[in-house]
Amino acid sequence: MFESLSERLGQVFRKLRAPGRLTQAEVEEGLREIRQALLAADVHYGVARELLARVGERAAGERVVESLAPAEQLLAIVRGEMARAMGGAAAKLRLAGRPAVVLLVGPAGSGKTTTAGKLARHLTRKGRRPLLVCADPQRPAAAEQLQTLASRVGVAFASAVDDPVGGVAGAVDRARRELLDVLIVDSPGFPPGVPPDPFLGEIVSALSPSDVLLVLDAMAGQEAVRMAEAFASLGVTGLVLTKLDGDARGGAALSLPSRLGKPILFIGVGERPEDLEPFDPERMADRILGFGDLAGLAEKLAEAGGEAAAVTAARVREGTFTLEDFLVQLEAMSRAGPLDQLLSRIPGLGKVAQDEAVEAELRRARAIIQSMTVEERRNPHILGASRKRRIAHGSGTTVQEVNQLLSQYEQARRLVRGLGKRRPPGWGGLPQTR
Ligand code: GDP
Ligand code: MG
Repeated sequence: MFESLSERLGQVFRKLRAPGRLTQAEVEEGLREIRQALLAADVHYGVARELLARVGERAAGERVVESLAPAEQLLAIVRGEMARAMGGAAAKLRLAGRPAVVLLVGPAGSGKTTTAGKLARHLTRKGRRPLLVCADPQRPAAAEQLQTLASRVGVAFASAVDDPVGGVAGAVDRARRELLDVLIVDSPGFPPGVPPDPFLGEIVSALSPSDVLLVLDAMAGQEAVRMAEAFASLGVTGLVLTKLDGDARGGAALSLPSRLGKPILFIGVGERPEDLEPFDPERMADRILGFGDLAGLAEKLAEAGGEAAAVTAARVREGTFTLEDFLVQLEAMSRAGPLDQLLSRIPGLGKVAQDEAVEAELRRARAIIQSMTVEERRNPHILGASRKRRIAHGSGTTVQEVNQLLSQYEQARRLVRGLGKRRPPGWGGLPQTR
């Protein structure tokens, strides 16, 4: 996701990062290029215009032109404004009531049923006891599809296809009896332009769900706004944006929160039940701008299991992070999921991820770190020229490759250090993107 946008923004900032101060004209040219990159990523023009206007204002107010590190300062401003465009702070499910009711609505094929299964898995891992309810009387075999998902993720299932309103009410009773604390209700989709069946409105008024999630396909881009209109009357509380794994542009994520006035709560990044991520605007802005997403990586690693991976995840959260941890991370990766998804979270590695050579890159990194002594892994600053030559020799690599790995590690470490404290907008000492 976001590959082409990240790539283009990376180019803009590389250009701006030429030594010395920037002129006003160079800043303006940079802003123009950022706007073009956003538009090419299918960001809505109004959203792009407003984002750039705010960046321009802040750049003037914070005297970017007079700054000694103008590109870094501009980058921090763009990061902050991008996060704001995506909703600012991360929004969470409300999950009010016993049981809480989460209703999934959206156009046909947007990913509601898949998301219902993903959400059930996610909530189970948070200690909840979900009941998956199928209230889709239209799609043939809808109940079977959801039931299969329910057993795959190990949660209870109820069908309400024969009488959606009565069936869902019955499921609420069952949940109370069986101490299940959250209903996840899957509903039918409707072709564009066709208003949702009235029974959806009845479910909403009968059960007043604490969360009505509108599930939208990121690939639909700006068209999703028009599709969303049909569901406005249902009191949508938040968005789930699916198929971001297939959309290299990502414009929908940057546009929909402000255009629909609703936060994105989750994103879908694949077809498997585990391919759901809570959405955090700041972390997403970091990923788009090539800073990686180490907090997300820590979560994935913890999920992948393995004691070593869990320890590393804890260290990442604590903000201490040695080359040994970096190695554990690399080792755990192949287990934690598709490599390219994980690599895109490590600062500076996002670009590598697109290469065929990913595996080779990982093998090299592993060989280099394994060729170091324990002391060297813990204190890489002691690595002088002769030690580096020895390591390169021992790992079958070059000193240049050793240096490259060290600088990737250094980037990761600097970011990790900043993770513990929430960085304020415009925080200093931004790492280089490449
Ligand atoms: P519904 O009609 O809204 O219930 O949509 P489904 O849940 O049946 O999904 C429609 C298709 O989209 C299925 O083939 C899913 O596997 C696929 N799908 C759903 N979410 C994602 C996602 O996040 N990424 C990808 N790549 N495919 C997805
Ligand atoms: Mg469905």
